[in-house]
Amino acid sequence: MNQRELFLRYQAQTSPFPLALEIERAEGIYLYGKGEKRWMDLISGIAVSGLGHGHPAIVKAVQEQASRHLHTMVYGELIQSPQLALAEKLISLLPETLNNVFFVNSGSEAVEGAMKLAKRATGRRELVAFAKAYHGSTQGALSIGGSEEFKSAFRPLLPDVRQLDYGQLDQLQQISCRTAAVVAEVVQAEAGVVLPPPGYLSALRKRCSDVGALLIFDESQTGCGRSGRFLGLEHSGVIPDILVLAKALGGGLPLGAFIASRELMQELTHQPVLGHISTFGGHPLSCAAALAALEVLQVEGLMSHVPGAEAQFHRLLLHPAIRELRSFGLLMALELESSTLNQALIAHALERGVLSDWFLYADHCLRIAPPLIIGQDQIEQACEILLEALEASCKAERGLL
Ligand code: PLP
Repeated sequence: MNQRELFLRYQAQTSPFPLALEIERAEGIYLYGKGEKRWMDLISGIAVSGLGHGHPAIVKAVQEQASRHLHTMVYGELIQSPQLALAEKLISLLPETLNNVFFVNSGSEAVEGAMKLAKRATGRRELVAFAKAYHGSTQGALSIGGSEEFKSAFRPLLPDVRQLDYGQLDQLQQISCRTAAVVAEVVQAEAGVVLPPPGYLSALRKRCSDVGALLIFDESQTGCGRSGRFLGLEHSGVIPDILVLAKALGGGLPLGAFIASRELMQELTHQPVLGHISTFGGHPLSCAAALAALEVLQVEGLMSHVPGAEAQFHRLLLHPAIRELRSFGLLMALELESSTLNQALIAHALERGVLSDWFLYADHCLRIAPPLIIGQDQIEQACEILLEALEASCKAERGLL
């Protein structure tokens, strides 16, 4: 059996149509297959590899930490220098009130922890979230997910979840003194990069404060420099009570975090004690990688490069079949007329060596979220290939190919 057959036989599948590219190694913005095969990674492993693949500083940090120690004890008991150094560094980059970090392994887990913290701290039960939001696949995170299609097969999920439409000011009144927390993205990623109307996030903040509900921002996709600032929330200046970071945080290793004020986080230490625990949360290798990644992000000035790169995509991606290019830094959605056209575009681009994708709740939108290190020439090349692939897809749709 070849690798593909083995993959399909022995590994659990998440869909009937996996990409199933055979990856030998990855470096910079490229994934390499066998022989001459190479793909430009335009999605960063879904908003993970912000610094590209195999950044030498991250590899070195991981190697050094591996030679010191791997896992030693469950999260929160021992003082482990990679965790401590990362927490200190992270806090130096965050708003003042977000000064206490709970490390976990993933975005879903961080969302779970944030929701539990909000319930514990407020003594309330209701969670408010948004249509077309994605916060993870565990049952709690799924419960606040914004798609009935993804939820219905897995009910019963969490009770007391209220769903609002993102961006609708008049619905904010539904957040009430029963609400423990509102979980929101500062830009909805899986909805196809949907930006809130101006003033919406501050109105949301105000409503939460008025009724004593906690505001949780899930910046799993928008955080860690992707928007051109370290946090997406810096564009609005709205500060949540709890912040979720994941994906790019670990520099390519699994890591998530929920972050709050020290006073708030203290709630998880009693009644019950050990109310939220994790064996591998804040794994030393992940924290060492994350610290190196944060340093690279700053030293290489990668965030200042984002607006120029974003503008270049906007300048180059022009075609009659493109309805709109929505972007929040280097988190971009290229909207087309249909999902079939998008699927054809993705396939044609892959044949030409560019890896892209669609969005969970917007399959007619092409996902473009390259590593932040992408250079001008590479953007030019990527856009040329995307436009060629789009033209080929349009022709095929019209029966001309
Ligand atoms: N939150 C957001 C906004 C996400 O986009 C995702 C994953 O795509 C998650 C949470 C879940 O993260 P993970 O897959 O690490 O559990």
